[in-house]
Amino acid sequence: MGNDLSGIHHVTAIAGDPQRNLDFYTGVIGLRLVKITVNFDDPGTYHLYYGDGQGRPGTILTFFPWPDGAKGRNGPGQATIVAFAVPLDGLQFWAERLEDYKISYEGPIARFSDRILTFLDHDGLQIELVGQRRLSGNGERLGAVPAKYAVPRICGVTLAQEELGPTEQMLTGLLGFRSVDQVSNRYRYVTGDQSAESFVDVLVMPGMLQGRVAVGTIHHVAWRTPTDRAQLDWREDLLRSNTRVTPVQDRQYFRSIYFREPGGVLFEIATDPPGFTVDEAAENLGARLMLPPWLEPRREAIEADLPALRLPTSRPAFVRAPGQ
Ligand code: ZN
Repeated sequence: MGNDLSGIHHVTAIAGDPQRNLDFYTGVIGLRLVKITVNFDDPGTYHLYYGDGQGRPGTILTFFPWPDGAKGRNGPGQATIVAFAVPLDGLQFWAERLEDYKISYEGPIARFSDRILTFLDHDGLQIELVGQRRLSGNGERLGAVPAKYAVPRICGVTLAQEELGPTEQMLTGLLGFRSVDQVSNRYRYVTGDQSAESFVDVLVMPGMLQGRVAVGTIHHVAWRTPTDRAQLDWREDLLRSNTRVTPVQDRQYFRSIYFREPGGVLFEIATDPPGFTVDEAAENLGARLMLPPWLEPRREAIEADLPALRLPTSRPAFVRAPGQ
């Protein structure tokens, strides 16, 4: 049995137009564009990474933009919602901000001990802002979001499933999640401790049309592991339980293994090292297209194929919160 997974590392979704995606997540949500690269498995497609000012694991939401891609469909076998933690007393700020941008939202909705705002991005991806007590903003002012209300991290995902059993068994058995709560058809599991704790809500919806991964849906969910050694242990555990798992893949900013949980959702286990500053200094993150060494020789052709992007004009100003 590996060590516990220390929360979410990143969530990857599929967007339509890359510019709208970039403008929304940096402009409205106030995340930092921490890396512009390409899909290493499909270098004709951007891979855009957003996160906190330093691109710490746990804060990262990434997108493959498919400008001409078909629209996806949420349904069983899919991760359907990504949730960001925000300070509870920041929900009012966020509600007003969404109104300012004419983004319709629902909430605050009470769920377990949280209060939640829910809305869709331009491509229909479902987002939740989860107001949590004992949480303050991430201490960084990015654009117009005050530091005290800034999104500190991703705190969970929702999976839609045809049935609970097999998914629950993998979460609480092999993967070491703790079953913590349930209301109607929603079952909550958590992993990681305190500041990095992340939840998986399994929504059981038998008989619904299966989901289809395309524009506006989540592609996969990545869980954190601190070292390459721990990742290899996870791989051994997965193989031993007859789960098909990929070999370790070098993703330049982390190393990854991929497998499907029994309900069909693609999971990844990603290492914390080396991180996003491996090829750019922290202050320059996201300033230009970065390619891994094996694609660098093809830079000219790759750049010619990608649509131009207008980057956020103001560099983020970092304001440290007291005591950090
Ligand atoms: Zn990933």
